[in-house]
Amino acid sequence: MNPVELIRKKRSGGGLTRAEIESFVGGYVSGKIPDYQMSAFLMAVYFKGMDPEETATLADVMLRSGKVVDLTSIAGRKVDKHSTGGVGDKVSVILAPMVAACGVPVPMISGRGLGHTGGTLDKLESIPGFRTNLTIDEYRDVILETGLVMIGQTPEIAPADRRMYALRDVTATVESIPLIAGSIMSKKLAEGIDALVLDIKTGNGAFMQSYEAAVDLATALVGIGTASGKETVGFITAMDQPLGMAIGNWCEIVESIECLRGRNVADLMEVTYVLGGAMVHLGGKAGNIPDGIAACRAAVWSGKAYEKFLQIVKRQGGDTSFLVDPAKYPKSTYVLDVRSATGGSVTGFDTMRLGALAGELGAGRRILDDVIDPKAGIILSKKIGDTVEKDELLAVVRTDRGEVAERIVREVLSCVTIGAAPAKRGSCIHATVDSTGVKPWTTPEAY
Ligand code: URA
Repeated sequence: MNPVELIRKKRSGGGLTRAEIESFVGGYVSGKIPDYQMSAFLMAVYFKGMDPEETATLADVMLRSGKVVDLTSIAGRKVDKHSTGGVGDKVSVILAPMVAACGVPVPMISGRGLGHTGGTLDKLESIPGFRTNLTIDEYRDVILETGLVMIGQTPEIAPADRRMYALRDVTATVESIPLIAGSIMSKKLAEGIDALVLDIKTGNGAFMQSYEAAVDLATALVGIGTASGKETVGFITAMDQPLGMAIGNWCEIVESIECLRGRNVADLMEVTYVLGGAMVHLGGKAGNIPDGIAACRAAVWSGKAYEKFLQIVKRQGGDTSFLVDPAKYPKSTYVLDVRSATGGSVTGFDTMRLGALAGELGAGRRILDDVIDPKAGIILSKKIGDTVEKDELLAVVRTDRGEVAERIVREVLSCVTIGAAPAKRGSCIHATVDSTGVKPWTTPEAY
């Protein structure tokens, strides 16, 4: 099949057959189709989209570009969670040990930062020694031993996604429903899971900014999961401000440890408990989601979730002494305050810009080979609805990049909107999506 003809067909809005998608994606993985043709293809898909059947085929072809791990020898229903990406989104770091502590095996394959969003892998790798590049055999051994494993894509797992993901990041083709659906589901269906919980973000820090686009993405993801025989439940969650207070890899690990030790950062823990509760329910350890949430809370309050995190960090080569005493972690050269120019109430954040600024401080990559500075980031002191005095601390910026520090302090300030009228914060979870459709969600009172 002629790749140029195929790109032209998609560029003109035509639908692609399975044979065409297989030949294009297969040709790319084997090296016959170069990056520039894949980039053009991605841009054509970005503009012209794919229908549900093409999207499911793309996910399936990407999945079949590699191996599917067999975890049937491991007892219990294996459940994972994946987020479409956000700013300050450290939910996986807290949720995975919490759910595993409830007795549900969690095999988790995560990604790196993409665009303005952070990635679980980069966060975990900020823990000195933590290895995310396990082989499939090690992956199986670790989950068998601990009920939890957290790794990155191995060369065998969805290699098409591994390469396309990196290319999308540098060709402005991330925000596309078929491309996100193919990317997420090809990884998730390769993990050996029985069920999946999805966190579909919406708001000014999400790839799908409108609620309607998030519902369309959720419907595509849930449809692919369900058609593949995996029970799949999605939640549409708020990304109109960073989740929690910390943005940046090590800062987010520190916030995660605090939450695992019982600190209640309201928005972060609402999302973590609800998604975790759904996983515990799908894993067969609770009769419904509210009971799953109660089990997750008990796992945090008993200290079992924190113990499980220490266990997995140690098992994957990480130095747990930094988790026990985060103060011994190296410090950034520049630690600068961002102070409010006026008094009032915080009414909003430019969340995507904050994610991009954290990247500029060293927390993300500009090009594929950039090395991340794990210490770099932004720690907020205020959230939407909080009152602020003139000159009060809004955030702290941490970086080793002296040349950008002062400018970024000014830019962070401009990302925070302060108004006279107090803003109200509602629930962070807007709706749930399963094979029966979209339903409104109300978080149980005492989550
Ligand atoms: N997360 C993924 O794994 N892939 C995407 O395309 C977006 C978020």
